[in-house]
Amino acid sequence: MDKRLFSELGLSPEALKAVEKMGFEEASPIQTAVIPTVLTGRDVVGQSSTGSGKTAAFALPAIDKVDTHSKAVQVLILLPTRELAVQVAEEVAKLAFFKRGLRELPVYGGQSYERQFRGLDAGAQIVIGTPGRLMDHMERGSLKLDKLKMVILDEADRMLDMGFRDDIEKILSAVPETRQLLFFSATMPRAIQDLIKRFSRDPAWIKVESTAQNAPQVDQVYFEVDRRSKIEALTRLIDVHDFRFGIIFCSTKIMCDELAENLAARGYAVDRLHGDITQMQRNRVMEKFRRRGFEFLVATDVAARGLDVDDLEVVFNYDLPNDAEDYTHRIGRTGRAGKSGRAFTFVSGRELWMLQSMIRYAKLKIRRENIPSLDQVEEARENVFFEKLRDTLNAGKFRKQDRMIDRLLEQGYMSTDICSALIHLLQGGPAGGPTGGPAAASAPSSTGSAMKAGAKSERKNDAPAWAAKKAGGVAAPQREREAPVAEFSSGPGAPRDQVDGFQPEARTGREQGFTTIFLNVGRKNLVTPADVVGKIAGVTRLPASIVGAIDIHQRHTLVDVASDQALFVVEKLTGIRVKGESLVPSVATGQERD
Ligand code: ADP
Ligand code: MG
Repeated sequence: MDKRLFSELGLSPEALKAVEKMGFEEASPIQTAVIPTVLTGRDVVGQSSTGSGKTAAFALPAIDKVDTHSKAVQVLILLPTRELAVQVAEEVAKLAFFKRGLRELPVYGGQSYERQFRGLDAGAQIVIGTPGRLMDHMERGSLKLDKLKMVILDEADRMLDMGFRDDIEKILSAVPETRQLLFFSATMPRAIQDLIKRFSRDPAWIKVESTAQNAPQVDQVYFEVDRRSKIEALTRLIDVHDFRFGIIFCSTKIMCDELAENLAARGYAVDRLHGDITQMQRNRVMEKFRRRGFEFLVATDVAARGLDVDDLEVVFNYDLPNDAEDYTHRIGRTGRAGKSGRAFTFVSGRELWMLQSMIRYAKLKIRRENIPSLDQVEEARENVFFEKLRDTLNAGKFRKQDRMIDRLLEQGYMSTDICSALIHLLQGGPAGGPTGGPAAASAPSSTGSAMKAGAKSERKNDAPAWAAKKAGGVAAPQREREAPVAEFSSGPGAPRDQVDGFQPEARTGREQGFTTIFLNVGRKNLVTPADVVGKIAGVTRLPASIVGAIDIHQRHTLVDVASDQALFVVEKLTGIRVKGESLVPSVATGQERD
């Protein structure tokens, strides 16, 4: 199907002006096909992938059909979620910018009835909402549909998935016979076809080519990763590519919370979105994300559905989506509008089979790769640091230190060694003399993590409030990200027990080179492993990798830290507040009881 100029589609001059104002140059294939058909008055069933421009495809002709001399509801748009209702209402408002007297109103569950009564009372020709709440208003008499000209079901498949079938049927049965009916759906399962058959009259079926070919701009890769190493894999990929704007999909709310906490504790600016987040909070999170107020949104499918954010650098499928459709929906958020994007998918164990059947079934183009090695991560970090150093040298905007340099040269040090030592210090490396400080005999990873001190210092210092709270008030230590310790391995034959630098389960006191520290807070204070790691990393500014096993008891916590840092950690943690409790840490004696 071709693309065409909007001006060839039969739209009003006001509509064309709005489209131009929005910066759309040409109509997308689905718009090219749908707009003239809707203008003729015929019912339409439209099928195309996420990001193909369906909203404008139905909204433009719908707006043109509204008679602004009447305030009665003339167009009803049904959508599965509140986010979508709000987004589509916003897009309608933009597309109707030059149409005087047109009002649109989003109506969705969770918002106060009072406000909606007032809105409906004031009169809106286009009402956009979720089926449940619209149904409510119909039954209460606050939504009158006797002048209705058009009903649009957007994301119909998802609405059925979400259990809106009854409400949709009631609404469709209650509207005037003469209405025009538009169905949009990424997929056409049986249930949708039934609805169409029952309520549509001789609809035009418009389908735009399959999703897989629609996302050629997205570089798609999957990684076989042991379940417990996912976080390590994720942070490595983020670091190697230096991603700063992306969505990470998880399958459950709990997973979202855990991952978000964990990433925050590791110094990434993240926030999360899932079904348990209040509407107000959601709007805030989404608004902030659109403004790039943080780097990564950790979300479930439903919560992020329809979230209209362009220019994502990457979409991570931290958990495998349920099916190819969800996969395509998820990755459709990157690589939009001609920009290239990336989609990284993790599979562990049997999920590999599921992914392979998806690939076969939906003809997805996903290639396999290995998680970058520590060396590759280091190299990437080194490059960033190198660039910064070189830029500084080229710019020449630094104070000369001739006196100190001369002193060192006079004492016989080589200039190359002086530079290396400085870089070492700059990256947070320990000062080393025979009697060095608390960090003298540092963990082997210290150079690596230190490299990042230079490389990552530009990360946004903008942790969400919940992260600060969860991490016990460290303000979600937006410290430099830490290097992983253990060498990463994945795939068959990997030593599954030690692939991840951070292991939540108890192994306190037994690990060589670790010392167990007693903390006077535990489950009763709602302390989580992320709290402990975040706290320690935050106050000591040492890599999270010095923290080993964490064993949280009812009233106390045992945490392993690298032995050579144990006293330093005890000293730094003393008096720090965690979950409202002032810490009195000590080196554990092995006699601890709850
Ligand atoms: P869909 O509903 O098919 O998933 P949307 O209607 O949400 O897609 O559109 C995706 C993005 O593309 C939106 O940001 C929208 O503003 C933009 N868009 C829509 N039509 C065009 C067009 N003709 N040219 C450029 N961008 C467009
Ligand atoms: Mg849409």
